Amino acid sequence: MLEMSQTQQKLLFNAIVQKIPDFPFMKCYANKTSMACALPMVLDNLNEAIFLMYQGNPSFLYVNETATKMLGYSREEFINGMGIFDIDPSWTPEVTQRFLIKSKDEKMIRFTTRHKTKEGHNIPIDITVNRFYFEGKSYHLAVCREIVDRKSFVEEMFGKETCFKFKDVVDNSPNNIAWYDAECRVVYLNKQIQKYFDVPIESLIGKEVTVASFGETYAEYIEKLRSVIKTGIGIEYDQTFRFKDEEHVHHMQIVPELDKLGNVIGIIAIGRDVSMQKKAEKKIEFLAYHDHLTELPNRIRTKLEVENVIHKAQDDSMQMAILFIDVDDFQTVNDSFGHAVGDMLLKSVASRLQDNLRDNDMLSRHSGDEFLIILNNVHSNDVIASICERIVESFQKPLNIGTHILSSSVSIGISIYPIEGDDFDALVRKADIAMHKAKELGKNMFCFFESSMNEETIECFHALNDMKNAIANQEFILHYQPQIDIKNKKIMGAEALIRWMHPTQGLIAPSKFIPIAENSGLIIKIGEWVIKEACKQAMLWHQQGIEIVVAVNISTVQFKRGNLEEIVKEALATSGLSPEFFELELTESAMMYDTEKIRTTIQNLKALGVKLSIDDFGTGYSSLSYLKKFAVDKLKIDQSFIKNLLENQEDAAIVKAVIQMAKSLNLKTIAEGVEDGETLDALHGHGCDEVQGFHFARPMSIEAFEGFALYFKHNIH
Ligand code: C2E
Ligand code: MG
Ligand code: MG
Repeated sequence: MLEMSQTQQKLLFNAIVQKIPDFPFMKCYANKTSMACALPMVLDNLNEAIFLMYQGNPSFLYVNETATKMLGYSREEFINGMGIFDIDPSWTPEVTQRFLIKSKDEKMIRFTTRHKTKEGHNIPIDITVNRFYFEGKSYHLAVCREIVDRKSFVEEMFGKETCFKFKDVVDNSPNNIAWYDAECRVVYLNKQIQKYFDVPIESLIGKEVTVASFGETYAEYIEKLRSVIKTGIGIEYDQTFRFKDEEHVHHMQIVPELDKLGNVIGIIAIGRDVSMQKKAEKKIEFLAYHDHLTELPNRIRTKLEVENVIHKAQDDSMQMAILFIDVDDFQTVNDSFGHAVGDMLLKSVASRLQDNLRDNDMLSRHSGDEFLIILNNVHSNDVIASICERIVESFQKPLNIGTHILSSSVSIGISIYPIEGDDFDALVRKADIAMHKAKELGKNMFCFFESSMNEETIECFHALNDMKNAIANQEFILHYQPQIDIKNKKIMGAEALIRWMHPTQGLIAPSKFIPIAENSGLIIKIGEWVIKEACKQAMLWHQQGIEIVVAVNISTVQFKRGNLEEIVKEALATSGLSPEFFELELTESAMMYDTEKIRTTIQNLKALGVKLSIDDFGTGYSSLSYLKKFAVDKLKIDQSFIKNLLENQEDAAIVKAVIQMAKSLNLKTIAEGVEDGETLDALHGHGCDEVQGFHFARPMSIEAFEGFALYFKHNIH
């Protein structure tokens, strides 16, 4: 090894041995010659690596066999030119300086560091450096032990006490904390991590994290660990793991563990399970752009989408249609069956609408029972019309809503980009106006927007405003149209028909303002006024000797939402009119929903003794069962059948059938819209009981009606 005589070498070995803690031989024998000869061999077989250097000189004078095995260099490589800097990268000039100062005062210095093998691996090392004199020279002898147990290494680094405390903190942290060495082998996993594994986490210590041993879900994570090892730069990201068939999102922080030279010697990964938070975030984001009931995109989302399409389409001739869809009579379902059924109906409507759409069309819930459909890239109105037809048609089939089977229909209004504008709100407003037109024309249909509709809407808006004050300003009046018994030629009753004496527009017919009043709910107040007024008038006529039944029209809205029973009771009580002289005309649609509330309202009204007739019979939902159940008194055959009674065989057949059916149920029949004597005779022939129509009289003012009654009594026989 050194240029020394054999004796000198022996003596040096002896000195070395003296400095090795826990040397396996008794030191007292070591200076005996026989033992001294064996010393190099003994040193080579130690567990510890031995490095000998002159004090203050980094080159190695001697290394034992263990050192060559530990670090992978040959003894020659060590001795011929290698020094401490080559195996300990942290051994910077500053560290050397500090070490030399310290070693002047202390004969033995113990510390932990890392040694780099020839292959580049870092090994944690526990070192004891001894200083000793031999033949006038000062030597440093480093005895190095590999720290196999990482825990003890940490203990060495930080001291046992601190280490235990740290471990406690780390183990009880709610975060998942893992420590790997630079080869991605598990050094430590805190307790939290156990819940993701079926095997005890202790069994994973020392294992390299690979997809093969840890599973596919680790693939991205391993990639990230490797990249941190490679670059030495920490990262932070969200990682989705799949553990036991459940997805967990972890917010990961991967931090490199660096030595004094900046080499990566390990990595610490801290993961926080943010699954709940992510779910909540997703939900919040979803709700911001979706409707929670149908899970369809909401208005905001649709606006963004449409604006985006418009923005992109500035230059070409793209055409887009906005369909504004409203469920017909939705309020009735809500009122009759309750909101839960209403909600279910909306969901079913949504899915039926969706079934009719192409892949790139968009359906969204606008509000309440209103939906929007955006038809992208439609180049002709025919295509739009055929899609709308298909949608309307698809509602022919009733919807199964829980235990109910409900018939439903939709009204659709259409506006087209760019014809009707390039602004989402304006396009929707116009589609909405067109939808209202579709409702007005009888519902269950679609309508394209036309510019004249704008004016109508403005008119409608003014009308609604004016109507609010019309009752207080006494602008409403009732006209009465006589109902005449065909056989006896006697006035049996009168239908009260409302008119609006508008201060500037003159007399307005009910067909113009009743739908607006119904849509706005104003009809409830107006209807109440009509009932009270009609009762009062009937009573006055009775006092004058005109003993007739007065009939009033009851809107479906009023019937479902107003407290009809109370109002009728009060009107009868205040006027003093006997209930059998008061008749309520309901339409078939009011009977459509056979619910507890409706049944009780009708039964209570009947119990008061008032009469009940079905107006416009034959145009709506005609069912024998409700006629029986609700003890209806009279059917008013709709004027559309009467108009062509003489020419149209089919109409005549219907009228005859209705009269026969009514007779079998013990109901009276009255024909509306009788304009001539021939029709009157035909009805007489079919056995109809009463008529109402221009043939005898138009609806008239109170005074005119009184005059007519007097004239009729004396002249018609
Ligand atoms: P309705 O209840 O079916 O009333 C009959 C309508 O037919 C009346 O129209 C009447 O003037 C008209 N009419 C009667 N005989 C003939 C005839 O021979 N030929 C023709 N062409 N028409 C005839 P009006 O007064 O314009 O009322 C229209 C509708 O407005 C009524 O239809 C009713 O549904 C509604 N209405 C009228 N007054 C009220 C009311 O006070 N409350 C409610 N909710 N609706 C009302
Ligand atoms: Mg009527
Ligand atoms: Mg009618």
